Amino acid sequence: MITLKEALTLDDKKISTLKEQLKQSIKSDAQLNAYIDIQNVGSGVPIAIKDNIQVKDWSVTSGSNILQGYIAPYNATVITKLLQSGLSPFGRTNMDEFAMGSTTESSFYGKTLNPINRDCVPGGSSGGSAAAVAAGLAVAALGSDTGGSIRQPAAFCGIVGMKPTYGRVSRYGLGAYASSLDQIGPITQNVEDAAILYDIISGYDTKDSTSANIQYEKISDKLNLDRKLRIAILPKYVKDASLDVQKAYNDTIDALSKDGHTIVEKEMEDPKYDISAYYITATAEAATNLARYDGIRYGNQKTGNNLEELYVKTRSEGFGDEVKRRIMLGNFVLSSGYYDAYYVKAQKVRHLIKDNYAKIFENVDLILSPVAPDTAYKFGALHNPLDMYLSDIYTISINLAGLPAISLPVANASNGMPIGLQLIANAFDEQTLFDGAMSLERLMGY
Ligand code: GLN
Repeated sequence: MITLKEALTLDDKKISTLKEQLKQSIKSDAQLNAYIDIQNVGSGVPIAIKDNIQVKDWSVTSGSNILQGYIAPYNATVITKLLQSGLSPFGRTNMDEFAMGSTTESSFYGKTLNPINRDCVPGGSSGGSAAAVAAGLAVAALGSDTGGSIRQPAAFCGIVGMKPTYGRVSRYGLGAYASSLDQIGPITQNVEDAAILYDIISGYDTKDSTSANIQYEKISDKLNLDRKLRIAILPKYVKDASLDVQKAYNDTIDALSKDGHTIVEKEMEDPKYDISAYYITATAEAATNLARYDGIRYGNQKTGNNLEELYVKTRSEGFGDEVKRRIMLGNFVLSSGYYDAYYVKAQKVRHLIKDNYAKIFENVDLILSPVAPDTAYKFGALHNPLDMYLSDIYTISINLAGLPAISLPVANASNGMPIGLQLIANAFDEQTLFDGAMSLERLMGY
């Protein structure tokens, strides 16, 4: 597939041809189920859009039954920005329902397959976007990352996924999962394309009260592959990953060191509380955000004999199991008897995580970490929800701390599946993040 950088130089006629070819390929590989449907706005370079980002007049459903029939009345800010830069929202991609999951198995539209090995999950929750890019069915895509949903599917599919600093990209028009963690970001074939797409979608937005009102400089035209950086590694933290991932990690460290980067050993203080802090925070916010899907304000209304029955039927039939589980967990940790014991404690842990990262960044530019403990799982391999939650160990603390990170493939495992590693930067230091990622991409030659 042509890269985003190349596609941006095409004339209108070539772009229409590209779109026609894409439509054909998407139809002939319908079994992959990367796309929910193909819609198009504008005449620019096609960008695939995760089904939780509002595109005016499109059906946008967050992969859920409860939003069947909903038509977006406005554009998300990122969509407005794509259109202003001459790009076209093209196709809605599949996702875990309300972005809750790590495998894209929980969508109302059925599971998406991993194009590298169709017995495996593509990762999640932005599995449709990642599978589309990896299969050559998209030039580039947008995803959203609350606890890894851009970086982990990118890693599982052997492509690049980037989560911006919290506040860098407007969340206006993004279907909220956990508002203090969600960020929209690029899923692309290479690092430079990620920088180009990131430049296009980022910037201050008055429509998002959590958008960062700080100076923003374009970075894709001043990427520096030759910068020598101080990179932290986390030897103890990495011990929980598979041997293949550990080997890829160590090989990457050797390559970085030979290339003249300075490697500094650091540790995450006590990562065992990360999962608890994340799943308490994320479910608490999700329970609140999803209260609006009651069949009155939003959501496919079911009839009942009274208001309560209407709510119960709408929500019981509209939401899938994983979403219901999280609404219950979220309401539990926010309930009066348990608020201090769970929710407040999780916020304290969140502060400790942030402080720990701040301490590491006192004398390094970047941190190198695995993205996931293993390569893409076989379908059904994560038997219970807790196993799935545990598999997020390497991605979630970055969202809790609000930091930018980029996942890129570095090697293949013994089973032939790609292994992704991530670089993490200090808040708002996307320039260093992309400089380091460009350098790493060239080094590993994946
Ligand atoms: N797997 C994590 C969760 O289910 C992250 C999902 C995401 O980033 N949207 O919460």
